[in-house]
Amino acid sequence: MKFYSTNNKNNTVSFKEAVLKGIADDGGLFMPSELPKLPDSFIKNISDIPFKEISFTVAKNLLNEELPDGVLSKIVNTAINFDAPVVPLDEKINILELFHGPTLAFKDFGARFMAETMSYLNKDSDKEVVILVATSGDTGSAVANGFYKVDGIRVVLLYPGGKVSKIQEQQLTTLGENITALEVEGTFDDCQRLVKQAFLDRQLIERITLSSANSINIARLIPQSFYYFNAFAQVCKKNQPVIISVPSGNFGNLTAGLFAKEMGLPITQYIAATNANNVFPDYLKTSVYTPRPSVKTLSNAMDVGNPSNFARILDLYGHNYNTIKEIIYSASFSDEQTKSAMKEVYSKYNYIIDPHGAVGYFAFQQYINENHLNNYSGVILETAHPAKFADTVEEVINKKIEIPERLRLCLDKEKHSIKISKNFDDLKNFLLGIA
Ligand SMILES: *Cc1c(COP(=O)(O)O)cnc(C)c1O
Repeated sequence: MKFYSTNNKNNTVSFKEAVLKGIADDGGLFMPSELPKLPDSFIKNISDIPFKEISFTVAKNLLNEELPDGVLSKIVNTAINFDAPVVPLDEKINILELFHGPTLAFKDFGARFMAETMSYLNKDSDKEVVILVATSGDTGSAVANGFYKVDGIRVVLLYPGGKVSKIQEQQLTTLGENITALEVEGTFDDCQRLVKQAFLDRQLIERITLSSANSINIARLIPQSFYYFNAFAQVCKKNQPVIISVPSGNFGNLTAGLFAKEMGLPITQYIAATNANNVFPDYLKTSVYTPRPSVKTLSNAMDVGNPSNFARILDLYGHNYNTIKEIIYSASFSDEQTKSAMKEVYSKYNYIIDPHGAVGYFAFQQYINENHLNNYSGVILETAHPAKFADTVEEVINKKIEIPERLRLCLDKEKHSIKISKNFDDLKNFLLGIA
């Protein structure tokens, strides 16, 4: 399987190059040259297949021949060593819990799969790989955990100082070893810009093997498609149209769902739920894409003003606006609406949902109401454990929530970060210093 750049279909590379580079030389994002359909028999029998086997089959279908079966199976089994259960709220609405990994957010799937894959692909090289990650919170901790103490790999995290939660900051800054946290005086968009600029800096890329672990890395997206298949497996017996709502920021999660659909997963409708950062729903409304600076919201992992995977969505559908509009419904919700959704889910179903999942729930309800639907199986992606946003959640539902042990442990550790400005020279000097 070759991978091409969204900026130029003729610019193709191997899987190894796509994963280790992260981003194409021309600044584009890598796309698989094909999304082969899985056999009908696989979809037909999917409700009897365990999650690990589903994951292996989907990965093999996509990566065909790029990794030997034994290697791929080991990567899948090591990376995806936790479950993605579907929890019914009622007969028609389900929550897909994606927070059972070590850092309690769905990014563990992508980060752990990528870490195992990179470590395998780089095993014969004597050069350290430096992974640069811009994070609005959850990406950084998932990536740092995925690569923690992995040989030959160093992780440099950039996060916007003062704009992530206390728990998130502790998760980013307390690991040490091969993980360094840079606290940027700026926004998440500044962090993302700095990372992009580093990859285009000739002096840097000559001196350091730089790689990316943001949702732009194709190895992050591939495992995220596994749980869409698994969710379908758990609801398909009802024989209703499946509608999936995805709380979205950089749109990596949604793009993985779209990959799954292209590989033959019969999803009737995708919903891209956004907070006040509404560039994508505005695009669907107007057909014009206008990136904007991000604004701060309660669902801060979705505070993105220029979603990087938009380029992949355009590419996937041949830049056809009408097709995109047909396949994806999108809407934007305020913090007040987010809170009311959290309240409603708790009072109606006795289920505690985090602010990101709450945006997904609100979007789902709006879609159902606008279209007067009665028969469906709804799946709302719960992208983080509510304890990661305990302050917000507790205030809204007026109840103390329990903090899982794996999260509690990092709260007592000492924070280590290096402060830098949003000026590129600061980042460059730091990186040259570790080369
Ligand atoms: C990253 C993240 C999102 C947004 O996912 P994208 O793939 O960037 O769209 C949503 N919720 C949580 C909790 C996240 O960490």
